[in-house]
Amino acid sequence: MKKLILFLCLFVTAVFAGESVPKNIIFFIGDGMGLPQVTAGKVAKGSLEMERCPVTGFATTWSASSLVTDSAAAATALSTGVKTGNGMLGVSPDDHPLQNVIEAAEKRGKSTGVAVVCSLTHATPAGFIVHVPSRKMDPEIAQQIAASDVDVLFGGGLDYFDLPELQKKMTVALTAEEFRSLGTPKKAAAILYPVHPPYAAERSVSLKELTQKAIEILAQDKDGFFLMVEGSQIDWAGHKNDGPNVVSEVVDFDDAVGAGLDFAEKNGKTLVIITADHETGGFALLDGSVENKAVDKTGFVHGGHTAAMAPVFAFGPGSSVFSGIHDNTDIGKTMIRFIQTSEK
Ligand code: MG
Ligand code: ZN
Repeated sequence: MKKLILFLCLFVTAVFAGESVPKNIIFFIGDGMGLPQVTAGKVAKGSLEMERCPVTGFATTWSASSLVTDSAAAATALSTGVKTGNGMLGVSPDDHPLQNVIEAAEKRGKSTGVAVVCSLTHATPAGFIVHVPSRKMDPEIAQQIAASDVDVLFGGGLDYFDLPELQKKMTVALTAEEFRSLGTPKKAAAILYPVHPPYAAERSVSLKELTQKAIEILAQDKDGFFLMVEGSQIDWAGHKNDGPNVVSEVVDFDDAVGAGLDFAEKNGKTLVIITADHETGGFALLDGSVENKAVDKTGFVHGGHTAAMAPVFAFGPGSSVFSGIHDNTDIGKTMIRFIQTSEK
């Protein structure tokens, strides 16, 4: 009898493991984080939090207009499951608004948030919230973000926002001190810089802290949540062909990934996905030491993006579908499908 019960338990577990749909999704984007950037982070750190993910894969990143995507078209692909032209945010190539994963989550009664280390109006976070034909429309992008139902907005870009309007909707922190005394309001913004934050070493609040606080706030919702976290400046260091800052931004991003995985491990109903929107620089790791955790020599092909496939890491219910090679739009489509069929 005991054996029969054990068998039934294993059988039921196996069936549910095959079809499991997460209640919460934490989606990490390392902007410009190709496989060489991940490798450099591993050399510098010894082992990465990302390595806790049992599932790995790759994603092609080209856009509707170019073999080499920009961050706007890539964010749109990842958030809506549809390819658009470079520079376009949340709209099709012919400028029709596309439903994104945050809107799907809101429709399902879930809480939503973004936590980034750039202006909230920048391409990656904006691509998860707004619908505009050009990423250069910062004031319009800020208006659409402020008018959205997103519950947690952590990043920079205060110059673009109508602060009194935003304060009517949510608790707003403008300094590190205010951020640390936010508590757990249902809706919160932390807009800690006039435009963009500096590099990791100079930031008053780390991406890991932003991630932990965002999860703490969003996890209060019994219906579940969707959170997008971006390591925004791996890309910027790549554009500048600045190897040391590529490494420190990957390390900072990976620390934040650890916070997401800590929550997911305890929670059991949370899918964590980590990927990049594209590779930046044609980055190469040329010399260093594993023993000394040293990246001594790096190189770059140029100061722009490349078309290399992005690495994908996944953990938790639903993670197995991310194994193998997919297109970046498949990630967006899958997240929306999970949200629409998930437990509330
Ligand atoms: Mg970005
Ligand atoms: Zn870039």
